[in-house]
Amino acid sequence: MQTNFTAEQLADPRVAEAENILRKCVHCGFCTATCPTYVTLGNELDSPRGRIYLIKDMLENGRPADEQIVRHIDRCLSCLACMTTCPSGVDYMHLVDHARIHIEKTYRRPLANRLTRGVLAMVLPYPARFRFALTLARIGRPFAGLLKRVPQLKPFGAMLELAPRVLPAKAASPAPGEPSAGVPKRGRVAILAGCAQPVLDPGINEATVRLLTRLGVEVASPQGEGCCGALVHHMGREEQALDFARRNVDAWTREIERGGLDAIIITASGCGTTIKDYGHMLRLDPAYAEKAARVSGLAKDVTEYLSTLELPRLEAKGIVVAYHSACSLQHGQKVTMAPKTLLANAGFTVREPAEGHLCCGSAGTYNILQSEISEMLKARKVKNIAATKPQVIAAGNIGCMTQIGSGTDLPVVHTVELLDWAYGGERPRKLAKS
Ligand code: SF4
Ligand code: SF4
Repeated sequence: MQTNFTAEQLADPRVAEAENILRKCVHCGFCTATCPTYVTLGNELDSPRGRIYLIKDMLENGRPADEQIVRHIDRCLSCLACMTTCPSGVDYMHLVDHARIHIEKTYRRPLANRLTRGVLAMVLPYPARFRFALTLARIGRPFAGLLKRVPQLKPFGAMLELAPRVLPAKAASPAPGEPSAGVPKRGRVAILAGCAQPVLDPGINEATVRLLTRLGVEVASPQGEGCCGALVHHMGREEQALDFARRNVDAWTREIERGGLDAIIITASGCGTTIKDYGHMLRLDPAYAEKAARVSGLAKDVTEYLSTLELPRLEAKGIVVAYHSACSLQHGQKVTMAPKTLLANAGFTVREPAEGHLCCGSAGTYNILQSEISEMLKARKVKNIAATKPQVIAAGNIGCMTQIGSGTDLPVVHTVELLDWAYGGERPRKLAKS
């Protein structure tokens, strides 16, 4: 694609990067076929190619974002299916990240939208606040339908509907785990505690620590780490996202210096994609660029790391698992085979739903802020999953688990919970009665 930036504009390294990305796009439109919003809405401006044109126009002209570009960029899920499809290697992720930061800096959103986004940014990344909000949501749940009828209050109605009816007991940070007695030590890792996941489903990290220590891996739980920053990063709140990133880089750097780390294990793939990008996010910060790149290099999805441990093959269990491949895992991190191979080797019958490349509509805060499109994508996903006739659904991201779980009665568990169970751990709580 031809671009027309001035030399002055290109002096800004971020604009120069955006220009490089734009120039790679050859307008072929292959990406439109796999874009969930284009497939759902049929509007070119809600396709990757359409959004790329809008971003190009905004940046080249150096103008503030307007209502039209905000509408179409807000509708983008950041699912990155377009990057998997694109034959030219267009780095849409960093282009849309740049556009979102530009929007946040130059566009004044309507009051209700500002308030909603402000509340989400102030609550979701902080476990204590999130837990308190979910407790309140249980009281407000009967009013969800009413709220959804008022356009400005629709996100709060969506939030109430997504809130779990039963909140798990408060969990402590994952306890550091030593390798089980008599098992040779195979490595040392740190585990990301995270923010929303331990509130919604503390069993995921508990299963991870149990499984890894049984396999001979020491699991450290560094003090001082917290939200990865993904939720606010996708809202264009750059400074807040970078603050979260720096805090985690500091915590993990201390842990690397204390005892060395073979990997930083992440059990929520949405977080994993962002942590693997810390090196890029902090590239212009001389105090953090190198440390952040080291942290990104160590970040591994739990299934990626487990694949290196050569787990034994187990007998078939006769349990059919529909594996939902989270966008952040398959498109963001290109981890596609590891979870399915691990589950199959552990004796589960793995089925892959049709249209596995399409997002379930969760996408961070998307199911709150864009609830109508999100509902359409959820219905499509749940229908495709149901067609595989599974007994249980497995996924590697708490956002997808919550989203899909709100549309089906089937149990939805994390891949690692099934693996922990298969290799001698506890039966996942959600399967306790099945
Ligand atoms: S990230 Fe997803 S929703 Fe956004 S343009 Fe790409 S395919 Fe479409
Ligand atoms: S597939 Fe790639 S090159 Fe083709 S229009 Fe989409 S982003 Fe551009």
